[in-house]
Amino acid sequence: HCQQVPTGPIETTLCDFETVESYNDELYTQLHDLVQTPFFKYYRADLYRECPFWQENGYCMNRECAITTVDESEIPPSWRASELSRLELPSEDLRNTIPGCYYRDSDFCFLDDLSEGDYVDLTANPERFTGYTGPSAHRVWASIYEENCFGISEWALSSAPNPAPVTLPDSMTGVLRSEGADSSRTCLEKRVYYKIISGLHASISTHICYEFMNQTTGEWSPNLECFINRVAAYPERLQYIYFDLVLLTRAVARIGPYLSAYDYCGTGTHKGDDDTLNQVKNVIGIAQTVGKFDETVLFRGENAAILKEEFKQHFRNVTRIMDCVGCDKCRLWGKVQTSGVGTALKILFELDEKALDPHLNSNLLSRSEVVALINTLHRLSESLYFVNEFRKIWAETAQSE
Ligand code: FAD
Repeated sequence: HCQQVPTGPIETTLCDFETVESYNDELYTQLHDLVQTPFFKYYRADLYRECPFWQENGYCMNRECAITTVDESEIPPSWRASELSRLELPSEDLRNTIPGCYYRDSDFCFLDDLSEGDYVDLTANPERFTGYTGPSAHRVWASIYEENCFGISEWALSSAPNPAPVTLPDSMTGVLRSEGADSSRTCLEKRVYYKIISGLHASISTHICYEFMNQTTGEWSPNLECFINRVAAYPERLQYIYFDLVLLTRAVARIGPYLSAYDYCGTGTHKGDDDTLNQVKNVIGIAQTVGKFDETVLFRGENAAILKEEFKQHFRNVTRIMDCVGCDKCRLWGKVQTSGVGTALKILFELDEKALDPHLNSNLLSRSEVVALINTLHRLSESLYFVNEFRKIWAETAQSE
């Protein structure tokens, strides 16, 4: 499957693989520049909260698991903890007067308390192979799929009659064998939910395999075998990365007017901040073409409100499970990406057109949410870029044999 580029419509979206393929290089170039800017590279996270679900003592001792934090003095004053607590929430008055204005309980994620935690320069702590593995990592993934994915597994969604061959770690066997329902018996919202999670997992795996360290030689290089075993051998997983990208680009397109009115201070000059804004506008422009997803078809049926609440609760739990990830760098990126997806879900399913109006509702998203959204989209776009690089490596390997 490694060389096959998927074609045709991306299920449950209004976009096709070809459109994503034709725009991704440009999207990736724009996003790659954008995430280097001060506004988007600094992220505040509380990385040392206790795991709320179990006693987590499998802390990763590998050097690659460590992160370096940034001293608050390097951060523009308006982002500092003392200022943030004043700015992050819309005032009580505003909340009561604007219809559709969002409330914290409409969030899809548990956001870290912004007065706690440290600033991290995301560009200095890239998501890549860290060596974090074994029971601790598997327990987190198992918990996400088993308890927080409506019980859906790959089997439930696969169009293939049999699941692809896979050697399961013991801790995961229960997960994949727990459910046998096929896709026709699984409602659209639950399928969408599973795709989001599985796509995120596949994207993380793609980063690990592309920026892989050979632990014997200590050298960093793409590991094709790793990519085949974790992603390419399961076409659905790869397709869900495309799905996630469409979902997030739709969210960026929908929130476009708001993002275009946002204050991207941070470079220290008006010109620098304006450049950041122009880069954001370029990303919005591409997102308008790629982000063809009709969010209005979800949560419409008889039990829509209950289903939406369940969906939200499950996803919130996933964001909390990130505190159980036993590797600082993986936890950081887990938090960024689950917050990014949570922000996208909020934009798509919780906010009406009026709420999205930047003039009526200037405090709609916190800086943290905007940074998480854009960095998560960058991760997904980068994954698809890496997938193409893997296709080239595969072709070269096949030629030389
Ligand atoms: P895992 O990736 O642990 O997967 C476990 C099982 O889940 C698989 O056996 C398979 O049955 C199933 N599965 C795998 N992929 C999918 C999918 N896409 N969809 C559905 N089911 C699937 N490690 C790093 O080196 N760097 C990181 O930055 C990093 N970040 C992480 C972030 C989080 C939130 C978590 C939980 C873990 C992270 N890890 C990271 C660890 C990494 O994800 C793997 O758990 C680890 O490399 C072991 O991989 P594995 O091959 O055993 O399978």
